[in-house]
This record gives sequence, C-alpha cells and structure tokens, in this order.
Amino acid sequence: MIKAKNLTKVFDKNIVLDQISTTIHQGEVVTIIGPSGSGKSTFLRCLNLLEDPTEGQIYIKEKEITKLKTNKLEIRKNIGMVFQHFHLFPHMTVLDNVSYAPQKVKGVEKREAEAVARKLLAKVGLTDKENTYPNRLSGGQKQRVAIARALAMEPEIMLFDEPTSALDPEMVKEVLDVMKDLAKTGMTMVIVTHEMNFAKEVGDRVLFLDNGKLVEEAVPSVFFDKPTTDRAKVFLEKVL
Ligand code: ADP
Ligand code: MG
Repeated sequence: MIKAKNLTKVFDKNIVLDQISTTIHQGEVVTIIGPSGSGKSTFLRCLNLLEDPTEGQIYIKEKEITKLKTNKLEIRKNIGMVFQHFHLFPHMTVLDNVSYAPQKVKGVEKREAEAVARKLLAKVGLTDKENTYPNRLSGGQKQRVAIARALAMEPEIMLFDEPTSALDPEMVKEVLDVMKDLAKTGMTMVIVTHEMNFAKEVGDRVLFLDNGKLVEEAVPSVFFDKPTTDRAKVFLEKVL
C-alpha cells in the first residue's frame, strides 16, 4: 500500500529523515515510536506530501507520488490524517465538521454527506453531539470527531500523529478504542504514538526512529522484548 525508498528530508542543513526505506501492506497497522525530534511527524507528513521529501521516493499502491507532476490534493483525498491537536473547524457543528469535506472536495450531495457523517458519528459514539460546536466537547470527543471527519473521505490509509498525546488520561482509552475498532475493519494505519501498550496489542509492526534513521523495524513482541540496538534498549528503558 505504501512504500518509502531512501526517503530523506533535509531542513536547512539538518538531516531530519535519513534514507528511510520500508513497506506498509494493505490492512497493516504500523506504529512509529522514537524520541522527540527523531523525525516521526516529518515521516508521516511526507507520506501525504504535506512535506516534500528532499530525496527518495514514496509509492502509494505501486504509483510513485514523489514526482513533480503529482496532484497532491488527489493523493490526500485517499489518505486521512489525524493530528495531536484535532484541528476541527471551530465555527461548524460536529455534523458539519464531518460532512464538509466530502461535499467540498468530492461533490457529494449534502443529504448524502450528512447521512454518511451520522453513520460515522454513531461509530465513534457521538450520535448525540451532531449539533454541538467543538468548544463544547471534551478532548476525547474532539479527537473522535476528527477521526470521523477523516473517515468521511473514505480514505484507504489513515495517518495518526500522536492522537492521544494532548488528552487527559481518562480520555485516552475512548480514542484508542475507536482506533482499535478501525484497525479491525482492515484499514491501513500508520500511527505515531507513545502508547506502548497500544503498539503492542494493536500494532502489526513497530518502526523505531532515532535521529532521522529507521533504527529498528519488527513485530511488537520482538521489538519490545528483544530490541536489537542499544538505542532502542535505552529508549524502552525510559518509557516502559
Ligand atoms: P518528532 O515528530 O519525532 O518529534 P519531527 O519530525 O517533528 O520529530 O522533527 C524532527 C526534526 O526536524 C526536529 O529537529 C525538528 O526541529 C525539525 N523540523 C521539523 N519540521 C521542521 C520545519 N518545518 N523546519 C525546520 N525544521 C523542522
Ligand atoms: Mg512529532
């Protein structure tokens, strides 16, 4: 589904991603773990071309998207993204937040877009909030709206950048549960997270980044129990 080949990103003279190569298959749930500043967000942002890679290639379903002529908007229609800080439209109700993009970007009729939005809101447990504005929601509710909004575009890939890092502890679970359900539907998911238990339980594979390099790549049982590099060992000692 996604293939990165020698993906490199340089900001000023800083090598933020250093020759990252990996393949993510359809339906896989891949978590990205690593210290702050290791390049996790930049890697995600390159996958949907929010950042232009400096070198290397990205392929989505065998098609190279890192060519100059790529229509970035077209690529992003197929890749949903959820951020740490929700980024909901503050002046729109929950229902409008979720139904807006399909109408605007895909030309879906309002009635249909709203019907789909209601189904998604039911899925994330927010049926009773459709007429509510974001400032009346808890962090966990906001993030579930953000997930529903991304899903409304019917993407084949979902990217999550620390979706629970801004939440109060009691709200983390409700968001992780929604993500777990989504994983069960066979969605291809790439998730930057500090939730090690989630990575162990739900993830099919862990990518460990350090200093822009893909240092380890393994199934969770191997990564967490028998990391092979000192860098991963040191990191895991700090977080586990
Ligand atoms: P992480 O998500 O793992 O914390 P990031 O991908 O956000 O790491 O950042 C990796 C490095 O790239 C950091 O040193 C950060 O300061 C730098 N960086 C990220 N975005 C930019 C940018 N737009 N301009 C310059 N430097 C950036
Ligand atoms: Mg980050």
